[in-house]
Amino acid sequence: MSEARTHNVLILPGDGIGTEIVAEAERVLLAVAEKYDISLQLSHALVGGSAIDATGSPLPEETLTQAKAADAILLGAVGGHKWDGLEMAKRPEKGLLGLRSNLELFANLRPAILFPQLASASTLKPEVVSGLDLLIVRELTGGIYFGQPRGERINDQGEREGFNTYIYNETEIRRIGRAAFEAARKRNKRLCSVDKANVLEVTVLWRNIMNELANEYPDVELSHMYVDNAAMQLVRAPKQFDVMVTGNMFGDILSDCAAMLTGSIGMLPSASLNAAGKGMYEPIHGSAPDIAGKGIANPLATIMSVAMMLRYSLNESAAADAIEAAVSKVLDQGYRTADIVAEGDQSVSTREMGDAVVAAL
Ligand code: NAD
Repeated sequence: MSEARTHNVLILPGDGIGTEIVAEAERVLLAVAEKYDISLQLSHALVGGSAIDATGSPLPEETLTQAKAADAILLGAVGGHKWDGLEMAKRPEKGLLGLRSNLELFANLRPAILFPQLASASTLKPEVVSGLDLLIVRELTGGIYFGQPRGERINDQGEREGFNTYIYNETEIRRIGRAAFEAARKRNKRLCSVDKANVLEVTVLWRNIMNELANEYPDVELSHMYVDNAAMQLVRAPKQFDVMVTGNMFGDILSDCAAMLTGSIGMLPSASLNAAGKGMYEPIHGSAPDIAGKGIANPLATIMSVAMMLRYSLNESAAADAIEAAVSKVLDQGYRTADIVAEGDQSVSTREMGDAVVAAL
């Protein structure tokens, strides 16, 4: 039973299949809240293409105000062919980037979970990935993607050269480190920090600060790995990892690699957190214009994003566990949407999958 605090959750369905999958996730959230006596206040707002159509902006002022006031945000997906012709600054995706920067969501949590029932969906051997459950914590607002100076210039030899700056300060490293140690605490208490400390000074500092932080988290076992080895280990024996923490660029690459271990884009949730633990939760996939409106999208990534929200922003771990157990149960029962169905099997609709999860709860 949780304390009787009301959690203020903003729901942003977005575009395409976003509205379909978020509707199911919202039903699951309400069902688990009732079961665990969690007090919720839900509000809804526009973001992305639907916001452009209604207001001219992918991130209307009102949406941003509501987002700042919320304890957590559940997002579907944004984008679609209708808005593809717009200039970069006015595209639906700017709504997402605007939320991330305005709310300072610097910690990106990307789990790679492979339910044993879906082991055949992976391109790796079932015994290598079956039951995989790892979490990559990626720094999202710093590192080489943002470092200054950057650009292209003519060097002393009269040749064109391109350059970027890989820079992290102590504060940035410490805050992503804390987010990762805290996440490890909520899981199996093993954290692997990924760097390139044999070559890059910035990651020597990264490693030193992770070691300093480890003193504050004696219950978490910290290890270090070079990024090239980490890439190799992810495909060789991914189940050795519990939580991995790394910078923006290494995290970008490793998290996509880890996602592909599971082979099912419709199953993977994500979270982006700020220093206060406020977060935006969303499936890793996009708005899937090719199947939008057909009622066949897989809602499980969004439903598991709700579980992450309960765990990481709302401190309702029991409810989070219950959702994950319910998802596992419906997979055991043989429910599959079209994207994860095995050949010859009958698939269920988005709505039927939502019904099944609610029933399993
Ligand atoms: P996508 O993830 O939308 O779709 C890729 C493929 O996976 C498609 O075949 C789609 O049908 C399938 N798919 C995705 N989610 C699914 C689900 N839940 N169930 C079943 N099948 C699913 O990527 P895309 O096609 O490259 O992009 C489409 C639009 O989404 C673009 O406008 C893109 O900019 C946007 N996008 C948004 C986000 C986001 O909102 N976070 C992320 C990625 C792409």
